[in-house]
Amino acid sequence: MPPPTIDGAEFDTPEELVKAINTTTKQHGYAVKIRSSKLSRFGIKNKVVISCSRGGKPDHRSKPTGVRNAKSRLINCPFLCHGELDSATRKWSLTDIIKENHNHEGALEASHPGLRKYFINRPEVMADIRAQASSLQKPDQILTFLTQKYELSPESPIVGHKDIYNALQKIREETLGNRTAIQALNVALHNDDDWFCRQKLDRKERVEHLFFINTASKEMIKAYGELLILDCTYKTNRYRMPLAIMTGVTGLNTSFYAGMCFMKGEDLEDYEWLIQAIKELYQELDIPLPLV
Ligand SMILES: [Zn+2]
Repeated sequence: MPPPTIDGAEFDTPEELVKAINTTTKQHGYAVKIRSSKLSRFGIKNKVVISCSRGGKPDHRSKPTGVRNAKSRLINCPFLCHGELDSATRKWSLTDIIKENHNHEGALEASHPGLRKYFINRPEVMADIRAQASSLQKPDQILTFLTQKYELSPESPIVGHKDIYNALQKIREETLGNRTAIQALNVALHNDDDWFCRQKLDRKERVEHLFFINTASKEMIKAYGELLILDCTYKTNRYRMPLAIMTGVTGLNTSFYAGMCFMKGEDLEDYEWLIQAIKELYQELDIPLPLV
């Protein structure tokens, strides 16, 4: 769990310091408390040892009553930091983090908004959602599953329907990758007469190549199509497919966009496919082939 982040902030009392620390640690599911304090040789409190709220010896005498009391939550958590009084400014600040680690996970019952994100993004929680989704569980059922498995409190829910929907959306994007988005684009292009496009699908009907160009660019090519410059941006787009961008040059030496092509790779055959698509475009426009 991340340490407190209150860099250099100053407070009038050690209690205010602890309160400020807790507003930053709450979202990570832990809190701190003053464990002990030290006095200066003039008898003035000038240093406090701050521990995790779960620092301290567990009380083995208390019988399990089903009611959680503060003591039963003590599990010798090693997290420790120091707060000190600046003798000149008379202000308290966090000076050292002595031990950064905890021996427990963040508490799930807190209702801080940041904790929602923290919980749902935990790798084990995402793995659970992924497993549930692949066995075709509905968001309701997944929510119930998580609530039971992680003993979430229904009073202060840290995960709701919306979180599950968002997580499922994220998983869908991961699993199907870029191809569905490109397929959607493909469908959109084919339903619009303004665009010229050619595509190649693989055996699983996923898009391997997709060449497209709009009407405005077609007009430009008709006028200045003798020379095309082909530039491939390698996997920098969100679909992680090479994207070939064609540019033409006008009579005034300005350049214009002359079509794009998503390609599965940058091998000779990929470029051959693209050249063929360009040929078909020029045939449709009824103009002589360009220099590429
Ligand atoms: Zn702790």
